[in-house]
Amino acid sequence: MASPVHLLSLTQSRRKGIPALLERLLEAAGLPGHIAEGDITALKLHVGEPGNTAYIRPPFVETVAAMVKRLGGRPFLTDTTTLYTGLRRNGLDLIRAAELHGFSSISIGAPFIPADGLKGDEAVTVPSPVEGNPPVHLAAALAKADALVCMSHFKGHEVTGIGGALKNLGMGCSTKAGKLYMHAQSKPFVEPSRCTGCGRCLEWCAWGAIELEEGKAVIAESACTGCAHCLLACPENALRFHWDRAPADVQRRMAEYAAAGVPSICLPYPYHKDRHQYRNAGKLVEVGAAVIVDDVADAQDRADRLWEKLEGLMADNERRARMAQACRRAARPHAARDIAQRLLEMADA
Ligand code: SF4
Ligand code: SF4
Repeated sequence: MASPVHLLSLTQSRRKGIPALLERLLEAAGLPGHIAEGDITALKLHVGEPGNTAYIRPPFVETVAAMVKRLGGRPFLTDTTTLYTGLRRNGLDLIRAAELHGFSSISIGAPFIPADGLKGDEAVTVPSPVEGNPPVHLAAALAKADALVCMSHFKGHEVTGIGGALKNLGMGCSTKAGKLYMHAQSKPFVEPSRCTGCGRCLEWCAWGAIELEEGKAVIAESACTGCAHCLLACPENALRFHWDRAPADVQRRMAEYAAAGVPSICLPYPYHKDRHQYRNAGKLVEVGAAVIVDDVADAQDRADRLWEKLEGLMADNERRARMAQACRRAARPHAARDIAQRLLEMADA
């Protein structure tokens, strides 16, 4: 199901300023319906690596924090530690990076808390939505928050293609163990003909997985976490990646983390002669994992119907938990593969 996308016109910002427009955007996106009185609300950021400028500017975060407060919520800013070496590798470094970029109680009016704790291992573990896969390790402070607002900057990414909301949720809300799992298949290798033996990648590898042997870098597979940080270090482009298989695997695992059993509201396309989207959504409704809202032509009528369902669901934690469970029970993660397998068997018969 496609999600609604709300855009902000920057031409209007000359008159009103971006924070004022941002409030309108948050209202249109339904933030008021998601924050109840006293809700401890996580504002999930990517605080940015010190020295970089790729992160959301603090005044915009301050606008969201102020709105959450006006709605009765208690906001805190949060992010998780990284797998790779750098300046966000543990909770203390992460707080320092957040403060350097202006994310603190003083500037935003909400404290910064590392979601996965001091060492990146404070987790709430939930079952994976994919049958047979290990449990999902969610960063504890994010998992325990009453409400979550995900604030992501948009960027190109060497593994996922785009770094945005899904990556900020899927990768950014996991502990180190979760990140490790997502990267498990994406280990780099050295192309010896390009390696000059400069040793730079050894300094970048926090896990001591790279050594020089006869003037060439060698990666110890068993010590390598697949964090991919060394790829950025090599001036010769000698550290390579299995682009043909690794990114797809990381993306699949990231989606698994982002979708660890989520109740849904479906708006099936109403004008198809077979109404096949209704039939598909109906299956989820049957098992108690979803509700349907009619995608009626009148936008206000549609918004009202959606709002009615949303309000009811957001106020009923137990019902959402039951729907999430039903969703996990109904999931057939390998359905496409199984169907293909059956078709191949039929073709052979
Ligand atoms: S060798 Fe492995 S653990 Fe070390 S930086 Fe490269 S990907 Fe990360
Ligand atoms: S940084 Fe590149 S060139 Fe230098 S040792 Fe590592 S792989 Fe070889």
